[in-house]
This record gives sequence, C-alpha cells and structure tokens, in this order.
Amino acid sequence: MDRLEAYKIDLKALQGNEMALSLVADNEFFAAVQGPEIEQGAVNVDVLVKEAGDSFMVDFQFEGEVQVICDRCLEPMMIPVSGDSCTRVKFGEEYDDDGEVIVVPEKEGILDLSWLVYEQIALQIPIRHVHPEGECSAEMQKALSSHGASDSQGGADEGTSEQSDRIDPRWEALKKLISTNN
Ligand SMILES: [Zn+2]
Repeated sequence: MDRLEAYKIDLKALQGNEMALSLVADNEFFAAVQGPEIEQGAVNVDVLVKEAGDSFMVDFQFEGEVQVICDRCLEPMMIPVSGDSCTRVKFGEEYDDDGEVIVVPEKEGILDLSWLVYEQIALQIPIRHVHPEGECSAEMQKALSSHGASDSQGGADEGTSEQSDRIDPRWEALKKLISTNN
C-alpha cells in the first residue's frame, strides 16, 4: 500500500461537509516523502478540510519530534517541532502549487497533502542545530578533529618546491651512478 495514501484527500467527496483527519508523520512517512532535511521522526498531524465557496480551506496543526544531524558531531539528534498551516485549495485544469492557492485538477479532485505537511515540518528546523553542551558524541568529535589535523598537514605538503630541492641531490647521485655503470 502507498505509505502516503492517508495524505491524499478526495475533495469531491466533501460535498459541503468538512473533514477532520488525524495523521502520524512517522519514519515510513519521511522515507516515502524523501525530503532532504528529515529522514526520521514522529509527528502528529491534525488536518481539517472545509469547503469555502469555490475553494477549500486546508488547516493543519502538527506536534512531535524529528531526527536531524548535529552540526557539531554529525550524529543524529531529535528536535521538537510544532506549528500550523492554513492553505487555500481550488479546482483547475492542471496541478499548481507555486502560488498562494494550490490548484488541483478538477478531473481527479485529489489533494495530496504529504509534501505540504513535510515542508511545514521542515520549516521548523532551526538553521543551526547542535546537541546541548556536553552531549555531543565524544568519539565522533575526536575522529572529526583528527581528520581536521591530517587535513592541515596535507596543506603544508603543498610547498613542493622545497621538497624537490631536497630530492634533486639524490637525482644527481643517481645520474652519477648511471653514468659510472655505463
Ligand atoms: Zn552533537
């Protein structure tokens, strides 16, 4: 079964009524959506869809936590997320979500909320996210800093002219050897 099936709303079935849904954006949801920022999480999403004249209002609220990668130690960490969103949806010829109003093809009448929900959750992630002080993985930090040290050594090696000067006398000796052997 399509993991995102629950996020597809049949707007034609509303017929003037409103529809309330309680969804859970879990690990399977994030795996199916394949967004770049979040791979795992557990977020409760309450959706309310109402018909309003010639369009629909889609409200949802969410609360939970998602797993992101710590900027300092690169180990996974959980951060809390919560927020709400209100979007207007109307029927049209072709699907379009670039504007303020999402256009859903009238022939199909299906609104797929999965990406909308994902985006709103991803917006709640702070730009910089690190473990609380002292809770970073010591092992990873050690590995990362020793990696950094070997990097700077590599940088020092770039002074190749000095090295070739040192190598030159050996070449001279080798040349002498070769000429003597001949
Ligand atoms: Zn960390």
